[in-house]
Amino acid sequence: MLNPIGTHTVSAQQSGAQTHTIHCPDKHLNESGFGRSALQSVMNSGYLSHLLTLLQALLEELSKGQGNTKPESGPNPLPTTTTGQSTDQSMAVPETEKITQSPAVPPSASSSGISQATSPQPYLSAAERETLRYTREEEKLARDVYSALYERWDNPIFANISSSEQRHTDRVADMLQRYGIDDPVTTNAPGVFQNPELQQLYNELVARGQSSLSEALKVGGYIEELDIRDLQRAIDESSNSELDQMYANLMQGSDNHLRSFVGQLTSREGGYSAQLLDQSEIDRTLSEATAKGTGHGGGIARP
Ligand code: MN
Ligand code: MN
Repeated sequence: MLNPIGTHTVSAQQSGAQTHTIHCPDKHLNESGFGRSALQSVMNSGYLSHLLTLLQALLEELSKGQGNTKPESGPNPLPTTTTGQSTDQSMAVPETEKITQSPAVPPSASSSGISQATSPQPYLSAAERETLRYTREEEKLARDVYSALYERWDNPIFANISSSEQRHTDRVADMLQRYGIDDPVTTNAPGVFQNPELQQLYNELVARGQSSLSEALKVGGYIEELDIRDLQRAIDESSNSELDQMYANLMQGSDNHLRSFVGQLTSREGGYSAQLLDQSEIDRTLSEATAKGTGHGGGIARP
């Protein structure tokens, strides 16, 4: 302390600045003879401001130290792991839940009521919900058209596939209920649809199927191609594996139905021409698993 003061004293005296209004209470400084002048020179020399600068720097260091306390306690094993884990968990949990819930859901879904009360209802996007509602009516359309064509032609293929479509639309209805979505099918009456496009399509297809059995079988082929196309779109759209699985099962049914219609048309007319899908996809579907009826493995990998 003395050395810097002395140094500054010299320079202060050299500068010749004098201030007599300062009353220094420090006896030692007064007695030592350099008290007032030293203090003055200290004031004038800027030593105090230098000291203040040092203090400021010290305070900054301290505040940095405090600031570092949090980061430093962060890197510490406990806080870091806790923070890191909680972040990772919050990221990982939804995905884990998705994966865990989805496989767990299908078995309970097939066992109806009880599971619906106990199982959670994962989030579905608006598009996923709307597609689910659409599919409910689209499967009913197949059921109703085949039912009408069975009445017209008395060919068991329409009765058999119509009852299969009943199971399909029921499966979608279960899914709607599971997710708390309004069922567009408010009446089981055949040929009645909320979706105006499906209503119009029903009317057109039933009318088209009246002219001949071959035409009715082609209507069947058209419906199955339409279903395969829409179900593939539904699978592409959905990120819910439970929905994907259901759509894949429905598509497997459509593959089987398409094979049945094409089989009858081929024996009657010698072949079948694609109406909506690429002919190559039709041919591939027809060539797949005809013997055991195992379909093409779910249809999810369908290009
Ligand atoms: Mn179907
Ligand atoms: Mn079908």
